[in-house]
Amino acid sequence: MKLKTAILRGSTLLVFFLCTAVTVSILKANLWYLLLFGGMGLFAGFTEFAIAMQPDKAQIIRRFVLFSLGTMLATLATIIAINFQFSEVCFNIYTGVITGALIQFTVARLIVPLLFGNIFCSRACWDSVIFELTDGKQKISNNDSKLPAWIFIGVIITTTYIISQSFVPKAGTPIMRYIFIAENLFIILIGIIFSKFFGRRFYCRKLCPFIAVSGLFAKFAIFKITPTQVDKCTSCQKCNNICPMGIDVMDYVKKNQRINHPNCIMCEKCVGICPQNCLLMDYKKGKRGE
Ligand code: SF4
Ligand code: SF4
Repeated sequence: MKLKTAILRGSTLLVFFLCTAVTVSILKANLWYLLLFGGMGLFAGFTEFAIAMQPDKAQIIRRFVLFSLGTMLATLATIIAINFQFSEVCFNIYTGVITGALIQFTVARLIVPLLFGNIFCSRACWDSVIFELTDGKQKISNNDSKLPAWIFIGVIITTTYIISQSFVPKAGTPIMRYIFIAENLFIILIGIIFSKFFGRRFYCRKLCPFIAVSGLFAKFAIFKITPTQVDKCTSCQKCNNICPMGIDVMDYVKKNQRINHPNCIMCEKCVGICPQNCLLMDYKKGKRGE
């Protein structure tokens, strides 16, 4: 049953990204988008098959994909001079020039979340590569408020608007390269330093504009982390302890509810750690973990 679900997940990702790759590369007359979205689809799709075939190596496979896709995106961003961060999305909207930043935002943060929640965070985000490598065991408080992220979004929207009034923010110009470097350094430093004091994945949980937006759509995702064998749960709390986003996974299991938390990044760490096989990334609830 796990294999059947994995084939469905993998095929969905593969078909969706390949269609996106062809459509966007034709519309933009740029083959880089074929590589970008095609690469994402191939990696993301085959990851699901590989994880199902080698469940013991699920996290090694997922990290390999995250590191490969994250590095590919960072390299592509440098080559085509596009900052895939939220500021560039705002600049695209203000100038009417659509670059990979706005396209990726639309695909990865508005459409994919309706299928797989915040899966982009655990499979392709280049900041996530750094945060996975530096992740510790710092405790996370129960405060799930996303207010800091929405304030941060407001600051970015305002700042980029003011900047775009003084000059045309064209990708690839020296000043845009400085913004690219400064913004990414800011994210990485805040993420690493604040996580030491305020708990794991601080930036992702509290500030990231992308997860704040995609989290709204993730609630309606078709695929979610799903309790499969609720009666077998021994309350060992291993799922809670391993969750990098501080989600009370066991509570969802006990209530037999699918995890629709806006911060779930679909990393499947809780799935892999559960000694009773109580969890699965699935499209519907039921006894499917065997
Ligand atoms: S609930 Fe599970 S899949 Fe979601 S972030 Fe936590 S460990 Fe990852
Ligand atoms: S790891 Fe599995 S058995 Fe342990 S509390 Fe979580 S769901 Fe229950």
